[in-house]
Amino acid sequence: MAEKLFIGGKWVKSKSGKTFTSINPATGGTIGTFQSGNSKDVGLAVRAARKAYKKWRLTPAPGRGEILFEAARLLKKNKKRLGKCVTDEMGKQISEGLGDVQEAIDVFEYMAAEGRRFFGHTTTSESPDKFAMTVRVPLGVCGLITPWNFPIAIPAWKLAPCLIAGNAAVFKPASDTPGCALELVKILSEAGVPDGVVNLVTGSGRNVGAPIVRHKGIDAISFTGSREVGEFVAANAGLKKVGLELGGKNPIIVMGDADLDLAVDGIIWGAFGTTGQRCTAASRVIVHKAVEKPLLARLLRATGKLTIGYGMKADVGPLVNQAAVEKTKAYVEIGKKEGKLFCGGNALEGNFFEPTIFTKVKPSARIAQEEIFGPVLAIITVKSLGEAITVANSTSYGLSAAIYTRDVNSAFTAIRDLEAGITYINAPTIGAEVHLPFGGVKATGNGTREAGILGLEEFSEVKTAYVDYSGKLQKAQIDE
Ligand code: NAP
Repeated sequence: MAEKLFIGGKWVKSKSGKTFTSINPATGGTIGTFQSGNSKDVGLAVRAARKAYKKWRLTPAPGRGEILFEAARLLKKNKKRLGKCVTDEMGKQISEGLGDVQEAIDVFEYMAAEGRRFFGHTTTSESPDKFAMTVRVPLGVCGLITPWNFPIAIPAWKLAPCLIAGNAAVFKPASDTPGCALELVKILSEAGVPDGVVNLVTGSGRNVGAPIVRHKGIDAISFTGSREVGEFVAANAGLKKVGLELGGKNPIIVMGDADLDLAVDGIIWGAFGTTGQRCTAASRVIVHKAVEKPLLARLLRATGKLTIGYGMKADVGPLVNQAAVEKTKAYVEIGKKEGKLFCGGNALEGNFFEPTIFTKVKPSARIAQEEIFGPVLAIITVKSLGEAITVANSTSYGLSAAIYTRDVNSAFTAIRDLEAGITYINAPTIGAEVHLPFGGVKATGNGTREAGILGLEEFSEVKTAYVDYSGKLQKAQIDE
């Protein structure tokens, strides 16, 4: 039986009368059948959200926090089961599937506690007997549109701050992972999120995503996904507040003084973890000529040890679907003309792809500039820290960057000069923690940050209030 949409607290069929299936990318088995929502469903979801918002915004934030704490507790209780759901529906290795759920637990706990720290500012007034302050207020109804690569964590990164700030949500998950989204929404409902505050509409980007972006009853859009769709969102959202978290082409710099074994561990995890399907995945290694040879020898050994297969059993899971396999294949063909294929390069039966490394890649090569979103790594050789940073900064993206060095001067120079929202020293480009801001510069987004205290800013706005207790008209800036 097909799963339903969740609108106004009820599980309902789509007005389209159509459904689609979600497939396990490793086994080809069916995960489930889901509603192909359309603009009418979006309209109903917006209406339900607007109605529920009226009460939810007036629920004290610590009370909203209690519900979020309960959601975190239920996620913990179901962590094992949900981790396997992530692995089965999206493909990532099981320890990463469990990590996906852990990230959701962390962000719900963090944001739940923010319900008691919903601070504004108080300040002086230029007039006597007058009080001035700012308070944080919700935005209204938020449209949340998410990708498949963190099918529980990314929706949680949006839902937790959205809810603690007092907003209602219309949530559209990626069509490759609707099952994980459904599980999360069920948990929120069980935790006590009132009917209509979170509405789930599954379906395609064209039929559900675009109507959300354009809907006049939605006040804000929080989007994570590709640059192409991000640009569509920016162009079509009108005057809504828009948060965009887009792609990356993240570099790891390895200096001549680096601990090479540590660097190799980080590169393998950064480039081939989640089969390279992370926005923060390391897709470029910028290595100092002095250590190029020993680094490559170590990388070859480490890559050769990786097992490929179903994420419950192997180190490297499948790509998410056949389109991703075709895209990776095409980039490997481009790479063969642009550099030297050092290892891997082959698509395997099903959706699997060998971890692939190219050497002798020029910084301007397409495989060094464009987001592949697969297990493909480009190695670029440089002669100095300055050159390494110039190369690192030479793409249009700016999400995450890393440097391996034992020199404190190089480390701080990199922190200052790398054009990236996140910089790691002696650690790979992946590994964000929920109490720190997450996001990028340049074409990675539009400057918003998720998670941490700044995550609340995306989902609230500041209201300024003046309280005049002088009992007379006081005119600001007017000489009496
Ligand atoms: P995507 O194709 O852009 O899809 C993202 C979401 O947008 C999906 O729910 C998709 O729906 C929906 N969508 C598609 N067309 C739309 C439209 N015209 N209007 C509104 N919504 C639309 O991205 P993806 O392939 O799922 O995810 C991979 C990308 O996400 C990569 O570029 C990666 O770097 C990026 N990403 C960024 C971050 C970050 O925080 N910076 C984190 C994770 C991933 P359908 O699934 O139905 O097509």
